[in-house]
Amino acid sequence: ETPVKVMQEPPFQNTSKTNLYHDKRKGNDVLLTLVRNTEIDQIVKTIENFENNFNSKYHYDWWFMNDEDFTQEFQERVEDAVSGRTKFIKIPEELWSYPDYIDRKKADASRKAYSDANIMYGDSESYRFMCRFNSGMFYKIPELENIEYYWRIEPGTKFNCEITYDVFQYMRKYNKLYAFNMALQEDVRTIPTLWNATMEFLEKNPRAISENNLAGFVSDDHSNSYNLCHFWSNFEIASTEFFKSPVYETYFDFLDHKGGFFYERWGDAPVHTLAVSLMLPANRVHFVANTGYYHKPNRDCPPNDELRDALHCQCNPHNDFTWHKYSCVHKFFSLQNLVRPDSLEHISM
Ligand code: GDP
Ligand code: MN
Repeated sequence: ETPVKVMQEPPFQNTSKTNLYHDKRKGNDVLLTLVRNTEIDQIVKTIENFENNFNSKYHYDWWFMNDEDFTQEFQERVEDAVSGRTKFIKIPEELWSYPDYIDRKKADASRKAYSDANIMYGDSESYRFMCRFNSGMFYKIPELENIEYYWRIEPGTKFNCEITYDVFQYMRKYNKLYAFNMALQEDVRTIPTLWNATMEFLEKNPRAISENNLAGFVSDDHSNSYNLCHFWSNFEIASTEFFKSPVYETYFDFLDHKGGFFYERWGDAPVHTLAVSLMLPANRVHFVANTGYYHKPNRDCPPNDELRDALHCQCNPHNDFTWHKYSCVHKFFSLQNLVRPDSLEHISM
């Protein structure tokens, strides 16, 4: 018998006009994946794993986005693996390209310099489109207009523990807007001017700064500099409400005009993290503990033996990064005087 309690169903509070689900307790929430046709094997593996550890209990719809058309084979294999319904979306070109204010020669020169410096994805144009898309574009896809929460899942990732509660419903019940699991430090060479751009934005828009925010998560010196901590956004559960808000939209637009997605190599992880940490109250951010999540090269694995047993984890606790000294997760808990949620008592909600 497992001591893990499954939470009660919260009251239904779908705020959207159209309902995806006939089940009135569910909102318009979807699993969401950006993926290429060439990643079919990885995504099918990830789907099978995620169905086993979560979605076979809830049958959420799973939507797939691509800057190219999905092949027939891709769609068939994916459809067979998902227990909910699927949707395959071609991203409109204006959401995956250069805005007209970008100097293309300067962008080319930057990719060359990043490549010469051997920075990961330094020479890649598509990687920069992807980071800009994930930062400020994906929720503008017409098909996503009525989506409330999305859970971002990447091909090749894995959950090595069972997830025992409906995280979407938890977010809704406790009024959370953003959820993360792993947190680490960014390569500063990819974002040399992002912090100063963010501070400039906040000086011009001081009302964007939230009370009781998580500024201490991103700066150790009273906002003089970025400590490089970021929520690792290959795992991300969030409400589109936050990204569609005027505050975030103004921030993204400001960054986009600075050009750092192309003149540097700004990632969506630090961009989302800076916005969430500075522009939301800390209590609207949720840490999804004990998932056994894996995305190359880091993994989560609950160090507590009883907990691993209860969640049927298939991982080695010696490889856990979440509570490693280089992880930024400690900071999230110590800042708010919260106890580490990785023993048996803390998983019963
Ligand atoms: P990393 O996690 O930073 O190493 O970057 P990934 O290569 O994993 O890319 C992040 C996500 O974007 C993954 O879900 C990829 O499948 C997806 N992705 C990256 N580049 C492209 C692209 O050019 N086209 C499409 N359709 N998806 C992409
Ligand atoms: Mn990835």
